Amino acid sequence: MIMEKRVYIETYGCQMNEHDTERILRLLEVSHYLETKNAKEADFILINTCSVREKPEHKVYSALGRYKWLKERRGAIIGVAGCVAQQEGGKLLDRIPYLDMVIGTHAIPMIPQLLQRIEISGERVCETSFDQDGKYLEAILPQNSPVVGSIRLDKVKSYVTIMQGCDHFCSFCIVPYVRGREKSRSSQEIIEEVRHLAEMGVKEIFLLGQNVNSYGKGLGEEISFSELLGYLDQIEGIERIRFTTSHPKDLSEELIQAFSKLPKLCEHIHLPFQSGSDRILKTMHRGYTKESYLKKIGHLKEVCPSIALTADVIVGFPGEGEEDFKETIDLMEKVQFDDLFSFKYSPRKGTRAAQFMDKVEEKVKQDRLSILQEIQRGITLRKNQELEGCIEEVLVEGQSKQSAQDVAGRTRSNKIVNFQGDLNLVGKLVPVQITKAYQHSLRGEMIPTHCRLENTPAYQ
Ligand code: SAM
Ligand code: SF4
Repeated sequence: MIMEKRVYIETYGCQMNEHDTERILRLLEVSHYLETKNAKEADFILINTCSVREKPEHKVYSALGRYKWLKERRGAIIGVAGCVAQQEGGKLLDRIPYLDMVIGTHAIPMIPQLLQRIEISGERVCETSFDQDGKYLEAILPQNSPVVGSIRLDKVKSYVTIMQGCDHFCSFCIVPYVRGREKSRSSQEIIEEVRHLAEMGVKEIFLLGQNVNSYGKGLGEEISFSELLGYLDQIEGIERIRFTTSHPKDLSEELIQAFSKLPKLCEHIHLPFQSGSDRILKTMHRGYTKESYLKKIGHLKEVCPSIALTADVIVGFPGEGEEDFKETIDLMEKVQFDDLFSFKYSPRKGTRAAQFMDKVEEKVKQDRLSILQEIQRGITLRKNQELEGCIEEVLVEGQSKQSAQDVAGRTRSNKIVNFQGDLNLVGKLVPVQITKAYQHSLRGEMIPTHCRLENTPAYQ
């Protein structure tokens, strides 16, 4: 009889990391490791880490400290994966004597084999080499699946990695160092994976990459990101397509037009601007100006008036003065983002900006962040309130966190809607009238079937 063991994974950081965790769980299923949500009963504890900013990096060390006793008491195997593992490599083993495994960002497929080595010989392992063949990008199948290539987050929506790594080298960013150079997966592989997901009942796919709009670079085939979207749009069973992240510099006219041409492409784009000051954008090495960013946003709004816009912004980058910060606020006010992810600049060892001299004081960074977030809260609430009374297409994802009588789903613009309904609705597209807008979600009422307009196939 095969002994089943338990794996507990703690995930930090972006969607790419969440997706990597899913892939690791699939891989480990084959080695008879089943997921547990309770670290205390795990035979293998893995921390999947993020090093984009200092805060998530620090969390890794405190998480490791929390699990030390499980190593001592139960002999659990403890590992670190992701960006911190890639960045620190063998130094982590030196620093943390009870750590067994360090797994870099390209080494995920090797985890079962390394785990077996630890189980047999008790040796401590570190694998952080970059894989040039792109094997680390291959889809990892759910066990016993008859079709090649797929991961499933849940039945309704699924992430699909289309490329990894980045060639941009923005001066503040660690990603090119820890995820490696840009590498795209072949369109054939991606299409097969998405077809398989559709067969499994997935309705929404979320395409992932550090810079999806340079998809195709270095592939043996002539294909742009927009062309890939065009192929995916034709796959039966898939109702919605989303993607992240796009770089403003590479946002092509073809991609902007895709928002009006492809029916399944949701009306939402996440387009990080980082700063509104041309001087700062230049030292960040972003490759666009405030004006050219605003021009692209204007064009997106012309082509797709209902498009929802979100972005990332950094405050307190070295050299950022009051005037620069005002430019950032001005850009935000001009665009009116639906939501913003805002960060204080955090120096990352090995990046160019970490060497810049004119650092901004911590208190100034914090004050600027608070001002910016306060303004954005007002804009977000107002944008949500604009939807009151409107009927939105909602893809139902599961039970609402707020009440057992409610279900929750998302609009095409990616806003969460809670409404009364039962779990039979999960996976369905339903029309919901928005009755109340809040800061982070919307409340609504489903339009009963007999009141729906004919000829709206999505709702039938
Ligand atoms: N590729 C995406 C782009 O260029 O827009 C961003 C990917 S990065 C993992 C996610 C976000 O983290 C960035 O958009 C940026 O706002 C933030 N970020 C990255 N490095 C940072 C740093 N050193 N300090 C603060 N925020 C940072
Ligand atoms: Fe980092 Fe810039 Fe690449 Fe985005 S584009 S991942 S911010 S280097």
